[in-house]
Amino acid sequence: MFSQNPEDLIRPLVARLNPYVYGEQPKIKGLIKLNTNENPDPPSPVVLAAIKAAVDGRLRLYPNPTAEGLREKLAKLHGCEVANIIVGNGSDELLALAVRAFVEPRPNTGVWLRNAELSRATVQYFNPSYSLYPVLADIHGAAKNPLELNGDFALPSAGELKRGRVWDFQAALTLITTPNAPSGRGYPTEELKAICERQRGVVLLDEAYVDFAGENAMKLALEFSHVLVARTFSKAYSLCFQRVGYLVGNPQMIAALNKIRDSYNVNGLGQVGAEATLTDLKFYKENFKKIVETRDQVSRELTGLGFYVLPSQTNFILARPPGIAAELWLEKLREKKILVRWFKSPELKDYLRITIGTPEEMASLVKAARAIIKG
Ligand code: PMP
Repeated sequence: MFSQNPEDLIRPLVARLNPYVYGEQPKIKGLIKLNTNENPDPPSPVVLAAIKAAVDGRLRLYPNPTAEGLREKLAKLHGCEVANIIVGNGSDELLALAVRAFVEPRPNTGVWLRNAELSRATVQYFNPSYSLYPVLADIHGAAKNPLELNGDFALPSAGELKRGRVWDFQAALTLITTPNAPSGRGYPTEELKAICERQRGVVLLDEAYVDFAGENAMKLALEFSHVLVARTFSKAYSLCFQRVGYLVGNPQMIAALNKIRDSYNVNGLGQVGAEATLTDLKFYKENFKKIVETRDQVSRELTGLGFYVLPSQTNFILARPPGIAAELWLEKLREKKILVRWFKSPELKDYLRITIGTPEEMASLVKAARAIIKG
């Protein structure tokens, strides 16, 4: 029988690719799961009821192709037009679309690119930030420009920006996680604005965790034609399962993204869940308050135990544990049925990223940490 060797069929770029590493979704029961920044509480009763009520004969139909009802509600919420918004299958889809719409793949010839060509083929981002960004650049065959952050993952100062230490490079697309992940650090809108003003390419502000922060930069997406803001229903709104995110920006930019997305990219139950969420924001505001309180409390407690905890504007904390290596802490916490996240990279290997769970879950974490230190 005639059969091709798969190695001859797969593009070299794909064969070489280092894919995105998912946070573990454990099968073990009873584990306290503090590793993927999910909200520990379920969606509001209003949202659950709306989704349940939508499970009927409608499932045979295609969903609204442009998530029109949801976009209308989002436009009202952000004080903009429906044309300023695109909804995606999670914000991950929209990040991928932005790379495809705004960045040229590098030619496959091995020639040196001139500066302008290189700019058009480059995705830049801070290191560390969301670890999907370099993977998206690699998938597209784009160049990458990881930019250094200052100590404790702070943005470069205004003075450094002026001297052009970091921003002398103009990229087709600059992706900024704000507040930052995995550091949890919040970035002031004025500092983000200064960055946007220096870039001639697209700047995408990824506000996946912004509901837990003191401020947001949405106004920049409505002020500048080259700035987009990404939001998601996953984290703060307890809808990871449903995969709904959106981007706000200039209508022409949004139209470009619309051209290249899948026709029915947002599933129907996801649209229903997200729309219902927007009718019950009061419920969520209370929930965010509780998570922020728990975050601040556990930060204080871990600091008391000798952890170095970075100030967080998100629903997770990045903390350097005392005594033994962070990787060992990961194992020891797992033995005590607590799952947190550890990253191998040089900037992060001394830290643990810990999602804020319920007050009870965080009390268990503190208790386990105390026992590990004693042991
Ligand atoms: N941005 C950041 C910074 C994230 O951490 C995540 C979730 N891993 C996303 C975007 C994507 O979220 P979603 O696709 O669920 O909207």
